[in-house]
Amino acid sequence: MRLFVPKEIQSLETRVALVPAAVSKLVGMGALVAIESGSGMAAGHPDADYLSAGAAIIADRAAALGDADFVLRVLPAPLEEIALQKPGSLATGLMDPFGSRERIERYANGRITALCSELIPRSTLAQKMDVLSSQANLAGYMAVVTAADQLDSILPMMMTPAGTISPAKVFILGVGVAGLQAIATARRLGARVEAFDTRPVVEEQVKSLGARFVKIDIGEVGQTEQGYARELTPEQVQKQREGMAKVCASSDIVITTAKVFGRKAPILLTREMISGMRPGSIIVDLAAEGGGNVEETIVDREIVTPSGVRIIGWAALERKVPRHASQMFAANMVNLIDHFWDREAKTFPLKTDDEIIQGCMLTHDGHIVHDRFKA
Ligand code: NAD
Repeated sequence: MRLFVPKEIQSLETRVALVPAAVSKLVGMGALVAIESGSGMAAGHPDADYLSAGAAIIADRAAALGDADFVLRVLPAPLEEIALQKPGSLATGLMDPFGSRERIERYANGRITALCSELIPRSTLAQKMDVLSSQANLAGYMAVVTAADQLDSILPMMMTPAGTISPAKVFILGVGVAGLQAIATARRLGARVEAFDTRPVVEEQVKSLGARFVKIDIGEVGQTEQGYARELTPEQVQKQREGMAKVCASSDIVITTAKVFGRKAPILLTREMISGMRPGSIIVDLAAEGGGNVEETIVDREIVTPSGVRIIGWAALERKVPRHASQMFAANMVNLIDHFWDREAKTFPLKTDDEIIQGCMLTHDGHIVHDRFKA
Protein backbone atom coordinates (compact mmCIF):
# COMPACT_ATOMS: atom_id res chain seq x y z
CA MET A 1 0.00 0.00 0.00
CA ARG A 2 1.32 3.42 -1.00
CA LEU A 3 1.04 6.21 1.55
CA PHE A 4 1.69 9.81 0.53
CA VAL A 5 2.24 12.92 2.62
CA PRO A 6 1.90 16.14 0.59
CA LYS A 7 3.61 19.28 1.91
CA GLU A 8 1.24 21.50 3.90
CA ILE A 9 0.88 24.60 1.76
CA GLN A 10 -1.14 26.95 3.98
CA SER A 11 1.30 29.78 4.70
CA LEU A 12 1.11 29.63 8.52
CA GLU A 13 1.22 25.84 8.79
CA THR A 14 4.40 24.37 10.22
CA ARG A 15 3.35 20.80 10.94
CA VAL A 16 3.74 17.63 8.88
CA ALA A 17 1.52 14.55 9.00
CA LEU A 18 4.39 12.03 9.37
CA VAL A 19 7.77 12.52 11.05
CA PRO A 20 10.74 10.27 10.16
CA ALA A 21 10.23 8.00 13.21
CA ALA A 22 6.64 7.41 12.11
CA VAL A 23 7.83 6.62 8.59
CA SER A 24 10.26 4.00 9.97
CA LYS A 25 7.43 2.32 11.80
CA LEU A 26 5.15 2.27 8.75
CA VAL A 27 7.93 1.01 6.49
CA GLY A 28 8.61 -1.71 9.06
CA MET A 29 4.96 -2.73 8.74
CA GLY A 30 5.42 -3.11 4.99
CA ALA A 31 3.96 0.19 3.76
CA LEU A 32 5.52 2.19 0.91
CA VAL A 33 5.80 5.76 2.13
CA ALA A 34 6.33 8.81 -0.07
CA ILE A 35 6.86 12.33 1.26
CA GLU A 36 6.75 15.51 -0.78
CA SER A 37 10.14 17.20 -0.71
CA GLY A 38 10.42 19.84 2.00
CA SER A 39 7.35 18.64 3.94
CA GLY A 40 9.14 18.33 7.26
CA MET A 41 11.48 21.32 7.10
CA ALA A 42 9.47 23.65 9.34
CA ALA A 43 9.17 20.87 11.91
CA GLY A 44 12.93 20.23 11.89
CA HIS A 45 12.99 17.21 9.57
CA PRO A 46 14.95 17.60 6.33
CA ASP A 47 14.33 15.26 3.38
CA ALA A 48 17.50 13.31 4.23
CA ASP A 49 15.97 12.15 7.52
CA TYR A 50 12.91 10.83 5.69
CA LEU A 51 15.15 9.07 3.18
CA SER A 52 17.07 7.40 6.01
CA ALA A 53 13.76 6.32 7.51
CA GLY A 54 12.87 4.55 4.28
CA ALA A 55 10.59 7.05 2.52
CA ALA A 56 10.75 8.09 -1.12
CA ILE A 57 11.09 11.85 -1.62
CA ILE A 58 8.68 13.18 -4.21
CA ALA A 59 8.91 16.33 -6.31
CA ASP A 60 5.77 15.81 -8.42
CA ARG A 61 2.93 16.35 -5.97
CA ALA A 62 0.09 15.86 -8.45
CA ALA A 63 1.47 12.57 -9.76
CA ALA A 64 2.03 11.26 -6.22
CA LEU A 65 -1.53 12.19 -5.22
CA GLY A 66 -2.75 10.18 -8.19
CA ASP A 67 -0.55 7.19 -7.31
CA ALA A 68 -1.32 7.04 -3.61
CA ASP A 69 -3.62 4.51 -1.95
CA PHE A 70 -3.76 6.62 1.21
CA VAL A 71 -3.08 10.37 1.51
CA LEU A 72 -2.19 11.74 4.95
CA ARG A 73 -2.45 15.46 5.63
CA VAL A 74 -2.55 17.81 8.59
CA LEU A 75 -4.94 20.45 7.19
CA PRO A 76 -8.01 19.99 5.00
CA ALA A 77 -7.08 19.28 1.38
CA PRO A 78 -7.25 22.21 -1.04
CA LEU A 79 -10.52 21.57 -2.92
CA GLU A 80 -8.88 21.36 -6.32
CA GLU A 81 -6.54 18.57 -5.17
CA ILE A 82 -9.23 16.13 -4.15
CA ALA A 83 -10.01 15.03 -7.71
CA LEU A 84 -6.33 14.20 -8.21
CA GLN A 85 -6.67 11.18 -5.91
CA LYS A 86 -7.66 7.94 -7.57
CA PRO A 87 -11.09 6.37 -6.99
CA GLY A 88 -11.02 3.80 -4.18
CA SER A 89 -8.15 5.51 -2.37
CA LEU A 90 -8.23 6.78 1.23
CA ALA A 91 -7.58 10.17 2.79
CA THR A 92 -7.15 11.25 6.40
CA GLY A 93 -6.28 14.33 8.45
CA LEU A 94 -8.24 17.36 9.60
CA MET A 95 -11.11 18.00 7.16
CA ASP A 96 -13.13 20.81 8.75
CA PRO A 97 -16.35 18.85 8.10
CA PHE A 98 -18.63 21.53 9.56
CA GLY A 99 -16.86 24.29 7.63
CA SER A 100 -17.00 22.98 4.08
CA ARG A 101 -19.75 20.85 2.60
CA GLU A 102 -18.08 21.12 -0.78
CA ARG A 103 -14.99 19.27 0.40
CA ILE A 104 -17.12 16.35 1.60
CA GLU A 105 -19.01 16.28 -1.70
CA ARG A 106 -15.80 16.28 -3.67
CA TYR A 107 -14.49 13.30 -1.71
CA ALA A 108 -17.75 11.48 -2.37
CA ASN A 109 -17.78 12.39 -6.07
CA GLY A 110 -14.17 11.23 -6.39
CA ARG A 111 -15.11 7.87 -4.77
CA ILE A 112 -12.47 8.52 -2.11
CA THR A 113 -12.91 7.22 1.43
CA ALA A 114 -12.38 10.19 3.73
CA LEU A 115 -11.50 9.35 7.35
CA CYS A 116 -11.92 12.64 9.16
CA SER A 117 -9.63 13.23 12.15
CA GLU A 118 -12.07 15.61 13.88
CA LEU A 119 -14.64 12.80 14.03
CA ILE A 120 -12.48 10.09 15.61
CA PRO A 121 -14.66 8.89 18.54
CA ARG A 122 -13.73 10.15 22.02
CA SER A 123 -13.35 6.58 23.30
CA THR A 124 -10.59 4.96 25.33
CA LEU A 125 -9.71 2.72 22.39
CA ALA A 126 -9.46 5.58 19.89
CA GLN A 127 -7.67 8.02 22.20
CA LYS A 128 -4.31 7.17 20.65
CA MET A 129 -5.64 8.29 17.23
CA ASP A 130 -7.25 11.49 18.50
CA VAL A 131 -5.63 14.43 16.77
CA LEU A 132 -7.90 16.98 18.47
CA SER A 133 -6.62 15.88 21.88
CA SER A 134 -2.95 15.63 21.01
CA GLN A 135 -2.93 19.08 19.42
CA ALA A 136 -5.14 20.69 22.08
CA ASN A 137 -2.71 19.58 24.78
CA LEU A 138 0.09 21.52 23.10
CA ALA A 139 -2.16 24.50 22.38
CA GLY A 140 -3.10 24.69 26.07
CA TYR A 141 0.56 24.71 27.06
CA MET A 142 1.46 27.29 24.40
CA ALA A 143 -1.40 29.58 25.43
CA VAL A 144 0.13 29.98 28.87
CA VAL A 145 3.71 30.28 27.63
CA THR A 146 2.69 32.87 25.01
CA ALA A 147 0.71 34.89 27.54
CA ALA A 148 3.53 34.72 30.08
CA ASP A 149 5.95 35.98 27.46
CA GLN A 150 3.75 39.01 26.67
CA LEU A 151 2.67 39.86 30.22
CA ASP A 152 4.22 42.91 31.86
CA SER A 153 4.83 40.96 35.06
CA ILE A 154 5.92 37.52 36.23
CA LEU A 155 3.74 34.54 37.14
CA PRO A 156 5.18 33.16 40.39
CA MET A 157 5.22 34.72 43.79
CA MET A 158 8.69 36.04 44.66
CA MET A 159 9.92 37.05 48.09
CA THR A 160 13.07 39.13 47.82
CA PRO A 161 14.88 41.76 49.91
CA ALA A 162 13.37 44.29 47.51
CA GLY A 163 9.89 43.21 48.44
CA THR A 164 7.32 40.55 47.72
CA ILE A 165 5.71 40.00 44.34
CA SER A 166 2.25 38.42 44.39
CA PRO A 167 1.55 35.57 41.98
CA ALA A 168 -0.22 36.42 38.72
CA LYS A 169 -3.89 35.52 38.41
CA VAL A 170 -4.82 33.33 35.47
CA PHE A 171 -8.41 32.55 34.49
CA ILE A 172 -9.06 29.58 32.22
CA LEU A 173 -12.41 29.45 30.53
CA GLY A 174 -13.34 26.02 29.19
CA VAL A 175 -11.70 23.03 30.80
CA GLY A 176 -11.43 20.38 28.09
CA VAL A 177 -8.11 18.99 26.95
CA ALA A 178 -6.51 22.40 26.22
CA GLY A 179 -7.95 24.00 29.36
CA LEU A 180 -6.63 21.26 31.65
CA GLN A 181 -3.15 21.55 30.14
CA ALA A 182 -3.31 25.35 30.49
CA ILE A 183 -4.22 25.02 34.17
CA ALA A 184 -1.37 22.58 34.78
CA THR A 185 1.13 24.80 32.94
CA ALA A 186 0.07 28.00 34.71
CA ARG A 187 0.25 26.22 38.06
CA ARG A 188 3.76 24.95 37.27
CA LEU A 189 4.80 28.53 36.55
CA GLY A 190 3.50 29.56 39.95
CA ALA A 191 0.33 31.43 38.99
CA ARG A 192 -2.87 31.49 41.01
CA VAL A 193 -5.39 29.79 38.71
CA GLU A 194 -9.16 29.91 38.45
CA ALA A 195 -11.26 28.06 35.89
CA PHE A 196 -14.81 27.66 34.69
CA ASP A 197 -16.63 25.20 32.44
CA THR A 198 -20.31 24.60 31.80
CA ARG A 199 -19.83 20.86 32.35
CA PRO A 200 -20.04 20.41 36.12
CA VAL A 201 -18.03 17.17 35.94
CA VAL A 202 -14.79 19.09 35.46
CA GLU A 203 -14.92 20.76 38.88
CA GLU A 204 -13.04 17.86 40.51
CA GLN A 205 -10.38 17.87 37.77
CA VAL A 206 -9.84 21.61 38.23
CA LYS A 207 -9.42 21.19 41.98
CA SER A 208 -7.08 18.24 41.60
CA LEU A 209 -4.72 20.50 39.60
CA GLY A 210 -4.63 23.01 42.44
CA ALA A 211 -6.91 25.58 40.80
CA ARG A 212 -10.16 27.13 42.00
CA PHE A 213 -13.38 26.29 40.18
CA VAL A 214 -15.46 29.43 39.66
CA LYS A 215 -19.11 28.69 40.43
CA ILE A 216 -21.65 30.35 38.17
CA ASP A 217 -25.24 29.18 38.32
CA ILE A 218 -26.46 28.99 34.72
CA GLY A 219 -28.97 26.17 35.19
CA GLU A 220 -29.03 22.77 33.53
CA VAL A 221 -26.30 22.17 30.89
CA GLY A 222 -24.71 18.71 31.05
CA GLN A 223 -22.73 17.16 28.22
CA THR A 224 -23.18 14.97 25.15
CA GLU A 225 -22.40 11.23 25.04
CA GLN A 226 -19.01 12.09 23.55
CA GLY A 227 -18.25 14.37 26.51
CA TYR A 228 -18.75 17.62 24.57
CA ALA A 229 -20.51 20.68 25.99
CA ARG A 230 -24.06 21.46 24.90
CA GLU A 231 -24.88 24.84 23.41
CA LEU A 232 -26.18 27.38 25.95
CA THR A 233 -29.36 29.41 25.54
CA PRO A 234 -28.88 33.20 25.12
CA GLU A 235 -30.10 33.64 28.72
CA GLN A 236 -27.52 31.17 30.01
CA VAL A 237 -24.74 32.92 28.06
CA GLN A 238 -25.80 36.23 29.61
CA LYS A 239 -25.73 34.75 33.13
CA GLN A 240 -22.32 33.28 32.45
CA ARG A 241 -20.95 36.64 31.27
CA GLU A 242 -22.23 38.37 34.37
CA GLY A 243 -20.68 35.69 36.58
CA MET A 244 -17.32 35.97 34.84
CA ALA A 245 -16.96 39.74 34.54
CA LYS A 246 -15.50 40.18 38.03
CA VAL A 247 -13.09 37.25 37.65
CA CYS A 248 -11.85 38.64 34.31
CA ALA A 249 -11.41 42.13 35.77
CA SER A 250 -9.10 40.80 38.47
CA SER A 251 -7.11 38.47 36.17
CA ASP A 252 -3.75 39.17 34.56
CA ILE A 253 -4.25 36.47 31.95
CA VAL A 254 -7.51 35.05 30.57
CA ILE A 255 -7.29 31.97 28.36
CA THR A 256 -10.48 30.98 26.55
CA THR A 257 -10.93 27.50 25.09
CA ALA A 258 -14.73 27.19 25.11
CA LYS A 259 -15.95 25.27 22.10
CA VAL A 260 -19.19 23.54 21.18
CA PHE A 261 -18.52 20.68 18.75
CA GLY A 262 -19.91 21.40 15.29
CA ARG A 263 -21.06 24.94 16.15
CA LYS A 264 -19.61 28.41 16.27
CA ALA A 265 -17.77 29.12 19.53
CA PRO A 266 -19.86 31.20 21.98
CA ILE A 267 -18.84 34.84 22.59
CA LEU A 268 -18.15 34.91 26.32
CA LEU A 269 -15.97 38.01 26.74
CA THR A 270 -17.71 41.14 25.52
CA ARG A 271 -16.10 44.51 24.77
CA GLU A 272 -17.47 45.79 28.03
CA MET A 273 -15.88 42.95 30.01
CA ILE A 274 -12.55 43.49 28.25
CA SER A 275 -12.60 47.20 29.03
CA GLY A 276 -12.97 46.23 32.71
CA MET A 277 -9.60 44.44 32.63
CA ARG A 278 -6.45 46.26 33.63
CA PRO A 279 -4.10 47.68 30.95
CA GLY A 280 -1.30 45.22 30.20
CA SER A 281 -3.38 42.13 30.84
CA ILE A 282 -3.49 39.38 28.24
CA ILE A 283 -6.27 37.37 26.64
CA VAL A 284 -5.44 34.27 24.59
CA ASP A 285 -8.43 33.08 22.56
CA LEU A 286 -7.84 29.44 21.66
CA ALA A 287 -11.27 29.30 20.06
CA ALA A 288 -10.28 32.04 17.57
CA GLU A 289 -10.50 29.80 14.52
CA GLY A 290 -14.02 28.63 15.32
CA GLY A 291 -15.40 32.17 15.70
CA GLY A 292 -13.66 33.09 18.97
CA ASN A 293 -14.83 33.42 22.57
CA VAL A 294 -13.81 37.06 22.68
CA GLU A 295 -15.70 39.84 20.94
CA GLU A 296 -12.60 41.58 19.59
CA THR A 297 -10.52 38.58 18.53
CA ILE A 298 -9.09 38.65 15.02
CA VAL A 299 -7.89 35.25 13.81
CA ASP A 300 -4.11 34.94 13.47
CA ARG A 301 -3.55 38.44 14.83
CA GLU A 302 -2.54 40.04 18.10
CA ILE A 303 -4.30 43.29 18.87
CA VAL A 304 -4.14 45.76 21.72
CA THR A 305 -7.49 47.32 22.66
CA PRO A 306 -7.80 51.08 23.38
CA SER A 307 -7.83 50.20 27.07
CA GLY A 308 -4.49 48.39 26.74
CA VAL A 309 -5.56 44.73 26.84
CA ARG A 310 -3.68 42.48 24.42
CA ILE A 311 -5.82 39.86 22.64
CA ILE A 312 -3.94 36.99 21.03
CA GLY A 313 -5.95 35.18 18.36
CA TRP A 314 -3.50 32.78 16.76
CA ALA A 315 -5.27 29.75 15.32
CA ALA A 316 -3.72 26.41 16.25
CA LEU A 317 -1.09 27.69 18.70
CA GLU A 318 0.46 24.21 18.54
CA ARG A 319 1.96 25.37 15.24
CA LYS A 320 4.48 27.31 17.33
CA VAL A 321 5.93 23.99 18.53
CA PRO A 322 5.89 22.14 15.20
CA ARG A 323 8.39 19.44 16.16
CA HIS A 324 6.31 18.11 19.00
CA ALA A 325 2.99 18.89 17.33
CA SER A 326 4.09 16.86 14.29
CA GLN A 327 5.48 14.07 16.45
CA MET A 328 2.12 13.70 18.17
CA PHE A 329 0.07 14.16 15.01
CA ALA A 330 2.17 11.51 13.26
CA ALA A 331 1.77 9.13 16.20
CA ASN A 332 -2.01 9.55 15.90
CA MET A 333 -1.77 8.71 12.17
CA VAL A 334 0.41 5.64 12.75
CA ASN A 335 -1.87 4.42 15.53
CA LEU A 336 -4.89 4.65 13.25
CA ILE A 337 -3.16 2.72 10.48
CA ASP A 338 -1.56 0.19 12.82
CA HIS A 339 -4.86 -0.53 14.56
CA PHE A 340 -6.39 -1.86 11.34
CA TRP A 341 -3.29 -2.92 9.38
CA ASP A 342 -3.27 -6.36 7.74
CA ARG A 343 0.32 -7.46 8.24
CA GLU A 344 0.16 -10.27 5.66
CA ALA A 345 -1.45 -8.32 2.85
CA LYS A 346 0.34 -5.11 3.94
CA THR A 347 -2.81 -3.07 3.47
CA PHE A 348 -5.32 -1.04 5.41
CA PRO A 349 -8.52 -3.07 5.10
CA LEU A 350 -11.50 -0.78 5.49
CA LYS A 351 -13.62 -2.31 8.25
CA THR A 352 -16.84 -0.44 7.60
CA ASP A 353 -18.56 -2.15 10.56
CA ASP A 354 -15.90 -1.00 13.05
CA GLU A 355 -17.06 1.72 15.42
CA ILE A 356 -13.95 3.88 15.00
CA ILE A 357 -14.28 3.75 11.21
CA GLN A 358 -18.01 4.36 11.41
CA GLY A 359 -17.35 7.32 13.69
CA CYS A 360 -14.90 9.08 11.37
CA MET A 361 -15.79 7.89 7.84
CA LEU A 362 -17.30 10.83 5.98
CA THR A 363 -17.47 9.36 2.50
CA HIS A 364 -17.15 5.92 0.93
CA ASP A 365 -17.81 4.37 -2.43
CA GLY A 366 -19.23 7.51 -3.97
CA HIS A 367 -21.52 8.47 -1.09
CA ILE A 368 -21.55 10.68 2.00
CA VAL A 369 -21.96 7.98 4.62
CA HIS A 370 -21.63 9.79 7.97
CA ASP A 371 -25.03 10.21 9.66
CA ARG A 372 -24.34 13.81 10.66
CA PHE A 373 -23.49 14.90 7.12
CA LYS A 374 -25.77 12.75 4.94
CA ALA A 375 -28.56 15.31 4.88
P1 NAD B 1 -13.83 21.24 23.28
O1 NAD B 1 -12.58 21.66 22.60
O2 NAD B 1 -15.00 20.87 22.46
O3 NAD B 1 -14.29 22.41 24.28
C1 NAD B 1 -13.41 22.92 25.26
C2 NAD B 1 -14.13 23.09 26.56
O4 NAD B 1 -15.01 24.20 26.48
C3 NAD B 1 -14.99 21.91 26.98
O5 NAD B 1 -14.58 21.45 28.25
C4 NAD B 1 -16.39 22.49 27.01
O6 NAD B 1 -17.19 21.92 28.02
C5 NAD B 1 -16.11 23.94 27.30
N1 NAD B 1 -17.20 24.88 27.00
C6 NAD B 1 -18.10 24.89 26.00
N2 NAD B 1 -18.93 25.94 26.12
C7 NAD B 1 -18.55 26.63 27.22
C8 NAD B 1 -19.00 27.79 27.86
N3 NAD B 1 -20.04 28.48 27.41
N4 NAD B 1 -18.35 28.20 28.98
C9 NAD B 1 -17.31 27.51 29.47
N5 NAD B 1 -16.83 26.39 28.91
C10 NAD B 1 -17.44 25.95 27.80
O7 NAD B 1 -13.53 20.08 24.32
P2 NAD B 1 -12.41 18.95 24.28
O8 NAD B 1 -11.16 19.47 24.86
O9 NAD B 1 -12.36 18.38 22.91
O10 NAD B 1 -12.98 17.90 25.29
C11 NAD B 1 -14.37 17.56 25.31
C12 NAD B 1 -14.58 16.38 26.22
O11 NAD B 1 -14.12 15.20 25.62
C13 NAD B 1 -13.93 16.44 27.57
O12 NAD B 1 -14.81 15.86 28.47
C14 NAD B 1 -12.74 15.56 27.42
O13 NAD B 1 -12.29 15.06 28.65
C15 NAD B 1 -13.32 14.51 26.56
N6 NAD B 1 -12.31 13.77 25.81
C16 NAD B 1 -12.33 12.42 25.89
C17 NAD B 1 -11.39 11.69 25.18
C18 NAD B 1 -11.39 10.21 25.25
O14 NAD B 1 -12.02 9.62 26.08
N7 NAD B 1 -10.72 9.57 24.34
C19 NAD B 1 -10.48 12.33 24.39
C20 NAD B 1 -10.49 13.72 24.33
C21 NAD B 1 -11.42 14.42 25.05
